[in-house]
Amino acid sequence: MGVLDGRHALVTGGGSGIGAAIARTLAEQGAAVAVAGRSAGPLERMAAECPRVTPIVADVTDAAACAAMVAAARTTHGPIDIVVANAGAAESRPAARMDLAHWQRMIGVNLTGGFLTVSAALPGMLDEAKRDGGERRIVFIASTAALKGYPYVAAYCAAKHGVVGLARALAAELAPTGITVNAVCPGYTDTPMLEQSLQNITAKTGRTREEAARDLARLNPQGRFITPEEVAATVLWLCSPAAGSVTGQAISISGGEV
Ligand code: NAP
Repeated sequence: MGVLDGRHALVTGGGSGIGAAIARTLAEQGAAVAVAGRSAGPLERMAAECPRVTPIVADVTDAAACAAMVAAARTTHGPIDIVVANAGAAESRPAARMDLAHWQRMIGVNLTGGFLTVSAALPGMLDEAKRDGGERRIVFIASTAALKGYPYVAAYCAAKHGVVGLARALAAELAPTGITVNAVCPGYTDTPMLEQSLQNITAKTGRTREEAARDLARLNPQGRFITPEEVAATVLWLCSPAAGSVTGQAISISGGEV
């Protein structure tokens, strides 16, 4: 018996890193999980590993694709109980060299992508909540960049701060419906996104990968990177009945960095 037996979760960006850990953790606790992303390969590998996981190819920056993603998830597993808006990307730029295209890419995937994902799923979740009075969950994967500024990632920080604002406003509005809305804010986490950042730092500064990793890990007072499983454990708790009165929160998972 898992705490999520009979539940249906949609996890965007579920083919790698934090999203894959979340999808595995929710599936281990009994949920049927639809994982979405742009590349079919990683999603299909996840589905091959986990019997309760279904792959859906979708780009969260495209409203029609988000509507189709939600429709496909409902067709496969029935009404959606849990949405984890995790898909995201981080590009760095010095402030003076940010251009509109960079800004729109960062806002597009990290903020608008979460909005489109939730907008596509919410009407169905509200209908079901009205019908059965049950609890449902929306979890955004934001970042410590939603709670403080970092150099060279102003657009990413602005998008992630926006995610927390969106989560708080939705939480206030949806509280009477039984849908909780929270944002999880990891510090530097050991995923392909972090590896890409380390390679960029190495290419731009000439420092070795190990030096770059040590400097980033030092930002965490515990002196290490967060693991995807630690983020997934908090998402699992938020999705469990035990967290029914937790809503509108931005939860830092950062070893005390924030
Ligand atoms: P990751 O391994 O690169 O995962 C990002 C996922 O998002 C990928 O599966 C990617 O799949 C998907 N994705 C990207 N753009 C998409 C789009 N337009 N439509 C649909 N899916 C898209 O990185 P991660 O570290 O696990 O990141 C997951 C989330 O955690 C992100 O929101 C990130 O901002 C946040 N976060 C990460 C860290 C960190 O240090 N790693 C820290 C704090 C917060 P496709 O490329 O196949 O689409």
